[in-house]
Amino acid sequence: MQYRHVPKNGDQLSALGFGAMRLPTRRGKIDEERATAQIRGAIDRGVNYIDTAVPYHGGESERFLGRALQDGYRERVKLATKLPPWSVKTREDMDRVLDIQLRKLRTDRIDYYLLHSLEAGHWKRLRDLGVLDFLDAALASGKIRNAGFSFHGDVRTFKEIIDAYDWTFCQIQYNFLDETNQAGTEGLRYAASRGIAVMVMEPLRGGMLGGKLPAEVEEIYRRSGLDRSGAAWALRWVWNHPEVTVVLSGMNDERHIAENIATCEDALPDSMTADELATVDAAAASYRRLMKVGCTGCSYCMPCPAGVNIPQCFSLYNTLGMGGSRLFTRGMYGMSLMGGMAGERADASLCRDCGKCAKVCPQGIAIPDELKKVGRTLGGLQTKMILPLARMMFSAEVKE
Ligand code: SF4
Ligand code: SF4
Repeated sequence: MQYRHVPKNGDQLSALGFGAMRLPTRRGKIDEERATAQIRGAIDRGVNYIDTAVPYHGGESERFLGRALQDGYRERVKLATKLPPWSVKTREDMDRVLDIQLRKLRTDRIDYYLLHSLEAGHWKRLRDLGVLDFLDAALASGKIRNAGFSFHGDVRTFKEIIDAYDWTFCQIQYNFLDETNQAGTEGLRYAASRGIAVMVMEPLRGGMLGGKLPAEVEEIYRRSGLDRSGAAWALRWVWNHPEVTVVLSGMNDERHIAENIATCEDALPDSMTADELATVDAAAASYRRLMKVGCTGCSYCMPCPAGVNIPQCFSLYNTLGMGGSRLFTRGMYGMSLMGGMAGERADASLCRDCGKCAKVCPQGIAIPDELKKVGRTLGGLQTKMILPLARMMFSAEVKE
């Protein structure tokens, strides 16, 4: 196993982390026997970072991990979980939630504790409720060992949050299609330059860069002469960045776990050759040709006076165009942009057609017109109808 260094505390973390959000299931519940064997097997092969959160598996992932990490496994890993902003109404709620999480995880400390899924709205509300004071107190008491945050907003907000506290780590979405989306490469480098470890989520962009690939992409990988899966190419590209500490993979298949562990062994920083990088560039260009809108995620069009998160709307619309599942994409749109997770609404229907954004878009995108298509495809009544289900899946309330 390859290990990478956390600058602020000296921890050596496995470059592959186990995300406990897509565990194997049976009859709608976590397949406890199989999932336990997978997690313990990965730890036996060197994985030492496990990431969970309240919403995963409808609130059951934390409780499951509490059991799966018995028999000495807890001591062999660094455990990460997150404070859900949507469950916090007061400063006292933060202590209450953390205590419940400690009990569910059957532990006396969370090694890596994150504020979950920050964007401008959640960040401002939590800060005003005193979340930085909460983190100071939880660190001082030893209930948490390191403070961080996970993030899905724009790079400007990301830098503001990075500068607001002495974080040990952060967690961002990063893959070869998101170099300029959300925190992106700019955010990755900004965090690393301040000695903040960066954990990467969605290295396969919700599975899109692994599994069944578009024929054009398959042909590009075949021409490289290297026998690698799409997942191996995408993961290797992320690990090639020296600023990345841990890459999280939500694993639930024994073959994928074995493959990811094998890929991780020699996917060292700056290890990819110019030819390999050119192959990934060609694959990225091919995916982009399949995109519905040629948005690069540069955010020059932001902020929108009506509150639309324009790059995020187009990113999800493009995910659908490139073969993403309609239910998953709608769920993500509803949860992250239509206020499903109690953040501020930022979906396409808020657009007032003022035209300000289109004037500055370097890609010349007719943004208001394209947003209408996004709204028709991903928003509306159908998405509202699946929101209660998505909320149950992603946003479980904190229960004992
Ligand atoms: S046209 Fe719509 S999306 Fe663009 S800035 Fe105006 S309100 Fe925002
Ligand atoms: S300015 Fe254009 S390319 Fe850049 S994020 Fe906005 S829509 Fe996308």
